[in-house]
Amino acid sequence: VKLGLNKLHSGVTTLGYGNRLGIWFQGCSIGCPGCCSRDTWAAPDAGTTIELEEVLAWIAKHLAEGHIDGISVSGGEPLDQAPALLTLLRQLQRYRIGNTQQRPLDILVFTGYPIATVEKQHAALLPLCDSIVAGPYREGRPKAPLAGSNNQVHRLLSPLARKRYTNWQARKSLQVEFDGETLWMIGIPEKGDLEQFEQKLLESGIPLGSASWRS
Ligand code: SF4
Repeated sequence: VKLGLNKLHSGVTTLGYGNRLGIWFQGCSIGCPGCCSRDTWAAPDAGTTIELEEVLAWIAKHLAEGHIDGISVSGGEPLDQAPALLTLLRQLQRYRIGNTQQRPLDILVFTGYPIATVEKQHAALLPLCDSIVAGPYREGRPKAPLAGSNNQVHRLLSPLARKRYTNWQARKSLQVEFDGETLWMIGIPEKGDLEQFEQKLLESGIPLGSASWRS
């Protein structure tokens, strides 16, 4: 099974409970105005397509090290690659059953499709997720926990999700990672956060060549 992949990150603390692994799918056919992840929109090509086995090996390596509370799947639009997503989630379910670490693992999927569409067209995915944030980003609407705009629904699907996310508030909404070449902003920005971040970098003499939120 092949997967269009934008990026993988460990140590994600802004897209769900605790210390997480993040998987960003490549490609989004929805195209919400104001999306901060425009770099994920282009359809997967030879440069961004990898074997799902490679992603699973990366996940297994981190799970073996312990200290992982959950996995967040985002994009791009994961449901635009529903067969690959389903295979990934089934494999994660196997990991969870064999999980020997102290902390349970919650699986959180972000999608721009409305929850009604997910329930109708992708029902097989739901028993494999602990929770799902669903709905298109609507520019100008207030942010909500784990959602860029408050029309998006965070549906809690398991006892673990209800335990972790009922009344949950993120400690911070954005984290910045640097891999030696690229600055990664991980999380869900408030209105104006990205422009402010870019301005502060500029004032420090670091102009951004390109940014995920610009086309
Ligand atoms: S917010 Fe999500 S669904 Fe909307 S265009 Fe951006 S990546 Fe696609």
